[in-house]
Amino acid sequence: MSDQKRVLSCIQPTGQLHLGNYFGAVKNWVDLQSNYQCFYGVVDYHAMTMPFKTDKLRTQSWDLIVELTSVGVKPENLFVQSLVPEHAELCWIFNCFASVGRVSNMTQYKDKSQKAADSSKESFISVGLYDYPVLQAADILIYKADFVPVGDDQDQHLELTREIANRFNSNVGKEYFVLPETLHTKTPRIKSTADPSRKMSKSAGEKHHIGIFASEERIRKQIKSAVTDAGETKDGEMSEGVQNLFELINASGGESYDSLMKDYESGVLKYSELKDAAADVLVRLTAEFISRKAEILDNKRELKYQIKQSSSEIRKVAQQTLKEVKDLVGLMNVKF
Ligand code: ADP
Repeated sequence: MSDQKRVLSCIQPTGQLHLGNYFGAVKNWVDLQSNYQCFYGVVDYHAMTMPFKTDKLRTQSWDLIVELTSVGVKPENLFVQSLVPEHAELCWIFNCFASVGRVSNMTQYKDKSQKAADSSKESFISVGLYDYPVLQAADILIYKADFVPVGDDQDQHLELTREIANRFNSNVGKEYFVLPETLHTKTPRIKSTADPSRKMSKSAGEKHHIGIFASEERIRKQIKSAVTDAGETKDGEMSEGVQNLFELINASGGESYDSLMKDYESGVLKYSELKDAAADVLVRLTAEFISRKAEILDNKRELKYQIKQSSSEIRKVAQQTLKEVKDLVGLMNVKF
């Protein structure tokens, strides 16, 4: 077994990857692969926690796998959560180490349950949505991950994961689980260009996210209509929308960043110029992803085979942890 530190991160197959996912998390996934042992999950069990279509879930998982590999995630580091059912079993055990008070307090649960209540006729909120962060704790701890590269919307869930690990360790009288730390990029929260007071998100609707495989026309259109002047700003303070555009340029490695910032500071920058510059760097970046995706789609069968293999290899790590956990908590461990 490798003595490299371990990294774990996951993403839900709920739609196309957007700039928030990429700059907040997935770009880091790609970079970390050279120095860490990495486990990256397409978490289809999580995607069932909000209203979903049974005839779409599997396709969405494969689509996301294609997208992740197109931006540089190595297939051998990728697994599909439902192909590693030990996550769900460990989640059950962790349910018995997680406090109702703490789980009820999770901001994402409150936000998403509100959204589920608003969007479905019968105001259906599943137990799965409530339990989501406990399953997430199982996703992380089952691989004894040292680091979890995510956007800052996941900080509270990571805190809960450490609490569960701590309670488990103290109950079994052994420092069994490593307490994982988050890793943020320099852009841990990309904002929606349509409403910079909220994060860019798939679940918020079409205009609130920019897909990283979107057409040039669409990217230019979305950036052109980016909100730049909303929000209370004190004299001379940059608005959230302008700051977001600067962050997008910087995160894409745009050389224009410094000179645009100078122009902004000296008060001569036109927002139309800032938007053109942002659209230019984003279009350049996404063009690479689009062409890589076309190549990968030509070999989709091969990729599917690889992911089944990698899920099976990664499952061995999860099975070992679950066996040890069952021993530690006093459950039966019989090999049939
Ligand atoms: P979404 O919020 O769009 O449904 P997920 O919940 O599947 O996306 O998040 C996948 C990863 O992308 C997580 O690590 C999350 O922290 C990160 N992420 C999502 N939105 C943003 C954002 N706007 N800025 C930075 N990171 C983000």
